[in-house]
Amino acid sequence: MAWVKFLRKPGGNLGKVYQPGSILSLAPTKGLLNEPGQNSCFLNSAVQVLWQLDIFRRSLRGLTGHVCQGDACIFCALKAIFSQFQHSREKALPSDNMRHALAESFKDEQRFQLGFMDDAAECFENILERIHFHLVPNSDTDMCTSKSCISHQKFAMTLYEQCVCRSCGASSDPLPFTEFVRYISTTALCNEVERMMERHERLKPEMFAELLQAANTADDYRKCPSNCGQKIKIRRVLMNCPEIVTIGLVWDSEHSDLTEEVMRNLATQLYLPGLFYRVTDENAKNSELFLVGMICYTSRHYCAFAFHTKSLLNLNIPLELGHGYLLLIELFFL
Ligand SMILES: [Zn+2]
Ligand SMILES: [Zn+2]
Ligand SMILES: [Zn+2]
Repeated sequence: MAWVKFLRKPGGNLGKVYQPGSILSLAPTKGLLNEPGQNSCFLNSAVQVLWQLDIFRRSLRGLTGHVCQGDACIFCALKAIFSQFQHSREKALPSDNMRHALAESFKDEQRFQLGFMDDAAECFENILERIHFHLVPNSDTDMCTSKSCISHQKFAMTLYEQCVCRSCGASSDPLPFTEFVRYISTTALCNEVERMMERHERLKPEMFAELLQAANTADDYRKCPSNCGQKIKIRRVLMNCPEIVTIGLVWDSEHSDLTEEVMRNLATQLYLPGLFYRVTDENAKNSELFLVGMICYTSRHYCAFAFHTKSLLNLNIPLELGHGYLLLIELFFL
């Protein structure tokens, strides 16, 4: 089991935070069935992670009013599966209704169709986006400020990008946008770790966010807005304080030999301000997030891992209102 290996790995950052015995923090939960030919593991993983997030699960429970899409209603399908998680006596549940709703909902785009494998991170993002449209159908996802939209209230990072030239002082118009997942290249991440080692700095867990930011902006040079000839780095500024921050680690090639290195450098804490050039929200300035869930991909199969809030509390890890971060990562075990 990948996560167990991960925790036992000598020198792994996870081992330092989660002491022996923390294996027990693997919460026993109900599985979701994935019969041969269904290829539903990408969807099951996304659903499992959402179910395990206390703040999402509880918020969804309190919501009823939505614009229903019948057979294609992701909101209803997710509600139904959550209710089964809570009340069913079965150890493993079928996710067929959710699979059908997703396929129906994305029929026109030919995405997430029955029997076909798909990407768990994109599935996770699209579930959140569809829930937004079921709750606030007339609002653009980039402009959503609705208090009832759990997707944006809990997961959205509200950002703007801007180029500021250090040489001539010119700056580009700030470009605002929101996103549910920040994608970062694993190769760039490993390069940043190497650069840090060359500077003889020791990798501390709180530096993880800064490494991610450096990896995210490395080699991403833009032209000076007033064309003074200077090449400048993009600045990303976070304007809100998301309760759940999701990082998607992407590989640049199908067969990467960086798996071990990436694993060694993952941390279970994410100091939110380190992830961006600047954060403007007062709460975000001190926000320290703990890893609460992970979706991994290995040998053409997705699996999800989550830490139970109770287990985290047992380990004396403070959980401020259930804030946390999620890692969506494709790891090539075996
Ligand atoms: Zn519905
Ligand atoms: Zn929304
Ligand atoms: Zn310039």
